[in-house]
Amino acid sequence: MANIAARKHFAAGEDCFSRMNKSSTTPATVSIARIGAYEEDAVLDAMRRCLKPLGGIESFVRQGQNVLLKPNLIGAFPAERACTTHPSVVRAAALLCLQAGAKVSIGDSPGIGSMEGAMARCGVAGALRDLDIAHADFHQEAEFENSANVVGRKLMLAKAVADADVIITLPKLKTHSQMVFTGALKNQFGLVLGAKKAHYHYRLKSREWLAQLIIDINRTAKPALAIMDGIVAMEGMGPAGGEPRALGAILAGADLSAVDAIACKLINLDPATVPLLQAAAQSGFGATYLEHINLVGDAWEELVVCDFKKIPELLNILRLLPLPAFLIAHLRRIWAPRPRIISELCIKCMACHRGCPVDPPAIDPKNPTGHFVNDDTCIRCYCCHEFCPEKAITFKRSWLHRLLIT
Ligand code: SF4
Ligand code: SF4
Repeated sequence: MANIAARKHFAAGEDCFSRMNKSSTTPATVSIARIGAYEEDAVLDAMRRCLKPLGGIESFVRQGQNVLLKPNLIGAFPAERACTTHPSVVRAAALLCLQAGAKVSIGDSPGIGSMEGAMARCGVAGALRDLDIAHADFHQEAEFENSANVVGRKLMLAKAVADADVIITLPKLKTHSQMVFTGALKNQFGLVLGAKKAHYHYRLKSREWLAQLIIDINRTAKPALAIMDGIVAMEGMGPAGGEPRALGAILAGADLSAVDAIACKLINLDPATVPLLQAAAQSGFGATYLEHINLVGDAWEELVVCDFKKIPELLNILRLLPLPAFLIAHLRRIWAPRPRIISELCIKCMACHRGCPVDPPAIDPKNPTGHFVNDDTCIRCYCCHEFCPEKAITFKRSWLHRLLIT
C-alpha cells in the first residue's frame, strides 16, 4: 500500500492546490467550444479548439508522463442514456494525450458492477480499442494524506491516483438527485473504490459533509485539467435516471470549481445552490464566483438552456429562514423525497439493494410485505436511484415539499 503525502503535476513546478487557492483572487480560465454532435473527428477538433486558449494539451501533459484519464463511468449504461462520458470525448482526450507523448491509462470505479463492464456497455472500450491505452489500477487502494483536508486527512483512493503523474478528469454534465449538480468536482468521488463510496454515504449522511469530502478528494488527488462532456447533458433526475438534453458544449479548465460554476450557468442553475460549490467556496477551493472566472472560446450566451430541468430544492427555501445549519440539515432529512419502487418497471435485479449503504439495506424489492423501502433507516442518499438500470425508482414527496415547491 503506497502512502502519498504530496504530488506535483505542473510543469512550472506549482502544485494544483496552491494553484487553485490562488484562483480565488486570480481569474481562473474556463474555455468553451461549441459542437453539435458526437462525431469523432468533430469532437477531436472541438476539444483542440477548447484547449487552445489554455495553451493546448501540452500545457498539462509532458512527454513520457503517466496520464490517468478519469471519465464518468457511473455504471453499465449505454451511451445514449447520457449517464456516462461519451466514448468520442474519451477517445479525443486519449488521442491528444498520446500525441503529446504521454503514457495513458483510463479508469473509474462504479458504485456497483465492474469498471470493465461499464466501459464495455457505454462504448468506451470499443472507442479505445485501436489505441495504446492501459486500464488503470482501480482494484487496489493507496493511502493519501493531506493536512489541509476538512473531513478526511487520510483518504483511501484508487492506486491509479498514486501511479499517475497527471490526472485529467472527463466529467459528464448532469443534474444530480442528491447533490443538485454533478460535473468536474463530483467526478473524483469515483476515485473511491466501489463499495467504500456507500460507506462514506452512510458515515457522513448529510450531503454538505459529503461535499466537503469530495473537495478533500480533489485537494488530494489534484486533477490538473477537466474536460467536460456537455454535448448531450442529463437533465431531471440524474445522475442516472434523468433524460438526455442537447447542450452542444465542451468545457475545459484547470480550476475544476470554475468549470462547474460555468457549467451551472449553461443550464441556468445558480452555482450558489450547489452543495459542492458551496463547500468549495467555504474552503477557498478554486473560483466559484463568476466575476473571478475568465471565459474564453466560443460565445457561451447562445448555449444557455433556460428550461433545463433541475432538481426541486426545498433547501433553497429553508436557507431563507433564520435557522441554524444543523436544524436545516435535520429538516431536510425529514422532508426530503423518499425513494419508491415502481413495481411495473422493477425487474428484481437487486442492484438497489446491493448498492444501499445502510446495513441492513433500507430497500428490498423482494420484501413479501410490499413495503420495499424502510423510511426510518433510509438516509435519502439516492444511491438506489443511481444504480437502477430500469428507472424503476421514483421519489415520493412529503406534503410540505409539495407545498413549498411547485
Ligand atoms: S433506500 Fe436508497 S436512498 Fe435510502 S439509504 Fe438506501 S440507497 Fe439511499
Ligand atoms: S435496481 Fe431497479 S430494477 Fe433492480 S431491483 Fe432495484 S428497483 Fe428493481
